[in-house]
Amino acid sequence: MSRAFNFSAGPAVMPEEVLQQAASEMLDWHGSGMSVMEMSHRGKEFISIYEQAEADLRELLAVPAHFKILFMQGGGLAENAIVPLNLSQGEAMDFVLTGSWSQKSLKEAGKYGTARVAASAQADGFITLPAPATWQIGSDSRYVHICGNETIHGVEFHELPDLKALGCDAPLVVDFSSHVASRPVDWSRVGLAFGGAQKNLGPAGLTLVIVREDLIGHTLPHCPSAFDYKLVADNQSMYNTPPTYSIYIAGLVFQWLKKNGGIAAMEQRNIAKAQLLYDFLDSSSLFENRVAQDCRSRMNVPFFLRDESRNDAFLAGAKAANLLQLKGHKSVGGMRASIYNAMPIEGVQALVAYMREFEKTQA
Ligand SMILES: *Cc1c(COP(=O)(O)O)cnc(C)c1O
Repeated sequence: MSRAFNFSAGPAVMPEEVLQQAASEMLDWHGSGMSVMEMSHRGKEFISIYEQAEADLRELLAVPAHFKILFMQGGGLAENAIVPLNLSQGEAMDFVLTGSWSQKSLKEAGKYGTARVAASAQADGFITLPAPATWQIGSDSRYVHICGNETIHGVEFHELPDLKALGCDAPLVVDFSSHVASRPVDWSRVGLAFGGAQKNLGPAGLTLVIVREDLIGHTLPHCPSAFDYKLVADNQSMYNTPPTYSIYIAGLVFQWLKKNGGIAAMEQRNIAKAQLLYDFLDSSSLFENRVAQDCRSRMNVPFFLRDESRNDAFLAGAKAANLLQLKGHKSVGGMRASIYNAMPIEGVQALVAYMREFEKTQA
């Protein structure tokens, strides 16, 4: 059996070396006589795995000391509720709508306070980003929410907004589920960032929250205890049992990132991969990407065949060529290639070669 190139949006491709290492350590982790999934989360073996993972992540993402790193559960969707439960104080929040994920965040937050739309790109079909200078942020805003990378629409903020420069003191909340660790983060502009692990960090089950300390401790009374950032932070993410195996695998991914030059090197690789694919799409007469040039995602590349009757043939041929999970999200149709950190450039080269061939034979 050979491994294919996997373009899934998530759960997604993992570095092969990480899978091999996990396999070799499956039955007996470092002479402990146990698999990691059999260890107490309070034992010294797992604590060492956890501490190493946290330290590596802090180093990789250059997280400042006044931010807490929380390893939680519930995924990005649960954070759509957990963030307002912890930060809104039941008051107003502002959302920038740039695609499906920010829309979901807005809707969920409305259960816990007044969720307002500061700006929206819906009118143009979510293929642009509204310029920060046009955002309508209330002076009473508890936080401003953006989705850093819209996984479905393929739109990415290439620079985080500087809210202070807009005269806004509210913290910025970023859903970075689908581009965390693909590029550096300017923490001076961020109050809280969250993301599920299954796009770029590891297996599903782990949710990463990185939050400025002063934003912790204002939780609404009806917030479930397991989702109270203060309780989670005060207990080193072990208020209840954390997703131990997912943390272990994410830790192996962090080691892999460090070995491969860290986030700066990863960003350069991601730029090269994305450029290869977008350059081909822009030169093609059969395929197209509709997102504005300046906000195209480096991680998720949605594209369409101008003749949609060829979609099934395209997907069947891709599968035969070992290029998997290219079907677009059902809400937008077409195709989507997710090219996260663990996708090697060879995968993108193979995809472009297949598309070029497909275009020729169908002409
Ligand atoms: C995948 C994704 C989510 C949802 O993650 P779950 O783990 O399924 O809850 C939220 N936001 C973004 C940007 C995503 O890509």
